[in-house]
Amino acid sequence: MNEVGIKILVVDDIEDNLLLLEEILDHDDYNVVKANSGQQALDILGEDADFALILMDVLMPDMDGFATVSTIKANPAWADISVVFITALTPNDLSISQGYEYGAVDFIIKPIDVELLEAKVETFCAFYRQKKLLENEIQQRQDLMRQLQLSSSIFENSGEGIMVLDAQGLIQVVNPAFLQHAGYAQPEMINQHIVELHATEQHRFFYEEMWVRVTEMGFWEGEVKSYKKNGQEYPEWLKVSSVLDAQGVVSHYIATYSDINAHANAKQKLYYLAHYDALTELPNRVLFQETLKHAAANVRRNGGRFALFFMDLDRFKVINDTLGHSAGDLLLQEVAGRLFGCIRESDMLSRQGGDEFTSLLLGLKKAEDAGVVAEKMIKALAEPVLIQGQELTVTTSVGISIFPDDTDDIETLLKYADTSMYHAKDQGRNRYAFYSQDVHATSSKRLNLESKLRKALENEEFELHYQPKYAVGSGVVTGMEALVRWNQPELGRVAPLDFIPLAEETGLIVPIGEWILDEACRQNKTWQEAGFPCMRMAVNLSSRQFKDGNMLKMVDKILHKHHLEPDFLELELTESMIMQDAESTIKILQALHGNGIQLAIDDFGTGYSSLSYLKRFPISKLKLDRSFIIGLPDDKDDSKIVTAMITLAHGLDMTVIAEGVETREQLAWLEDAGCDEIQGYFFNAPMSSQDFTVLLQKMSV
Ligand code: C2E
Ligand code: MG
Ligand code: MG
Repeated sequence: MNEVGIKILVVDDIEDNLLLLEEILDHDDYNVVKANSGQQALDILGEDADFALILMDVLMPDMDGFATVSTIKANPAWADISVVFITALTPNDLSISQGYEYGAVDFIIKPIDVELLEAKVETFCAFYRQKKLLENEIQQRQDLMRQLQLSSSIFENSGEGIMVLDAQGLIQVVNPAFLQHAGYAQPEMINQHIVELHATEQHRFFYEEMWVRVTEMGFWEGEVKSYKKNGQEYPEWLKVSSVLDAQGVVSHYIATYSDINAHANAKQKLYYLAHYDALTELPNRVLFQETLKHAAANVRRNGGRFALFFMDLDRFKVINDTLGHSAGDLLLQEVAGRLFGCIRESDMLSRQGGDEFTSLLLGLKKAEDAGVVAEKMIKALAEPVLIQGQELTVTTSVGISIFPDDTDDIETLLKYADTSMYHAKDQGRNRYAFYSQDVHATSSKRLNLESKLRKALENEEFELHYQPKYAVGSGVVTGMEALVRWNQPELGRVAPLDFIPLAEETGLIVPIGEWILDEACRQNKTWQEAGFPCMRMAVNLSSRQFKDGNMLKMVDKILHKHHLEPDFLELELTESMIMQDAESTIKILQALHGNGIQLAIDDFGTGYSSLSYLKRFPISKLKLDRSFIIGLPDDKDDSKIVTAMITLAHGLDMTVIAEGVETREQLAWLEDAGCDEIQGYFFNAPMSSQDFTVLLQKMSV
């Protein structure tokens, strides 16, 4: 039924008849549509067949009323429409019975009795309305049935426990998932109140509150404790929501129970990933920052103090690069475990990334107590770690700042701990340092030194000293090592160990190193040209220089510039420099060696060397570090180590030089042990080029 009324189709070939019918049926409830032929009537039905009634003239040209009706009745979409013939024929005419056979339901005889027509039309329309209502109702019921079927299948098959409560909260029906989970049978639960189901003595108040919220707000959700029939307690996530009837009044409540573990697990997992370090399982930088903020807020509110530790492992990178990342990872895990063992439960240890750790010691009574913990941590690492069959020892340097004693600003606190850590490293590593004016002074001293170092080359403040090397047995000078000196106008002479690391960090070592090589080669050539015996000049390379892509070219350029045979140049490298990224090192070493330059490993024994690489590197000399020489000849360990290193070097066809030889006893012992060359104060300290010239002159006479 549409808003313009029930549709009635009137069909007549005479326009006046159509107008007359339209006139009679002019009523708000009706919508009269006219057709002036059987064909037009069919066309109209073809567009929209929602007519309550067709009033049709029998006698029409082309297609008469009977033919039209039989077509209509043959079409299932139209067959339901009632057709009433309007005819001038007399009732006992044969065509009336014929008309019924064709499917007409009634006849109206012309001339039209208006009242009768109105009455009949209204009857058909009423019938039509009734039919429509019924159809609608059937449709609605079908929809409802489908919906109910769907809901009931959800209810029956859901993995979540569901119950339907009445408006008072009494359980009406429970789904199988709930029954199975809780171990109840349906009848035991019916008409129990949901609060009674959960409430134990100590939790009654909680559930009563919950029910008040449900009735006031129509909704509640949260964690609840449920009890199985056998008394076992288990946590669940409960949601209760109201169902309103057509009048908007609560008719029921639906309660769903879901597995809190699944809920909580997913939440926990996300939280974990965002806040913890996967390798060590320690809190990560994010959680650390959050905790730091809370700790600061807490101290600001309640007083007290806490300590912030900044730690990194000394020389971890070397281990990582030489033994590989998986060994590095194992080491970090072990270190994390040991450090964690040094703090209390209320403190925090976190990994910032790489080999950097931080710690918060909360509720600290005295700042000095932090020193005790730092000491404990350093001790905890002292014990060697066995990784992939190798014993490794790592040490850590700890920087400590105290909140709010040093500062009450978090960012500054972090900076202070960081600076203090560098201070600890500068002081010789494997120690801790509190932030203090000392640290502050050191860091500004460092800045000051850096600005002076930047001007040193330009101001020609560098100078090379030379220390001779002697052949064991013959006592002949075999060569010399160039050692840089910095004569700083204000500071006086600055020792290499005080500025080389800074030059490395700032990159200044590249131009400084180039000057050193240039000066050493120039001096060597000068001595050769002066007629002294040709000797090999050893020059120290730093790791930054070694990694510099231009190094090979630079060396080549300098040798050419001074017309120095490559054989008279020796480069001293350290173990850590060449064991890092050993595969690419091999190529560089081979290029140098291929050009005729000699290569030596300096400070041998203090780093990590892989024997298999050592064998493949074109190295001709090992320089035993001074730390092994000091204890000779009395120290049993040192003498064993030195003997082994000499055997090793000779086994690899390398010569051995001992550096830092200061006594006759050391010299005698080394001679016995088969050491090839000696360098040290016993013969000479490093000296200026003038002094070295004097030495050469003395030698030649
Ligand atoms: P290094 O290459 O192992 O040099 C040996 C160091 O031991 C030198 O210290 C030398 O003066 C010192 N020494 C020599 N004989 C004895 C001895 O009998 N007893 C004692 N106690 N010490 C002795 P120096 O000149 O202070 O250099 C220290 C380090 O600084 C060098 O160790 C090297 O690593 C670095 N260095 C020095 N000059 C240069 C340079 O021109 N370039 C680079 N890259 N590094 C340099
Ligand atoms: Mg050296
Ligand atoms: Mg050395």
